[in-house]
Amino acid sequence: MREKIRMLTYYCPNCWSTVTEEDIICPKCNFELGVFQQLEYEEKLLTALYHSVPERRIMAAQILGNIQSERALNEFQKIIESGETDYFFMRAILIAIAKIDSSCKLYLLNLATLNESILVKRLAHRLIDIVSKNSEIDEWDHYTG
Ligand SMILES: [Zn+2]
Repeated sequence: MREKIRMLTYYCPNCWSTVTEEDIICPKCNFELGVFQQLEYEEKLLTALYHSVPERRIMAAQILGNIQSERALNEFQKIIESGETDYFFMRAILIAIAKIDSSCKLYLLNLATLNESILVKRLAHRLIDIVSKNSEIDEWDHYTG
């Protein structure tokens, strides 16, 4: 877990351009990254799941899946239970759930099959199928881009 986090790409929390761990000021927008880095990266991403800009919520969900954030599963469950129907956001969340190694993976995906949106339901079923067969999830990245 720690190793993975160290190898991560960092994002400026202000403009979301790529920054390095060493950057003190974002090279794109001059945002002071020192403030940001005091907060735990994962914590910041969990907060970003509720960002007002949909693209940032989606990006946060994707990264949380890529870093295998088990803490994100709690938030994902809350979002699924809230009846969220934004397909692109739900898609990022469901794929992240499928990627994160956890025993509640299938429970959460099943929960998503109850979603009002037919597209979300369909994706949840497809992911349950993939997860049950232990197939590779990486290919799904193409659909989240
Ligand atoms: Zn920036």
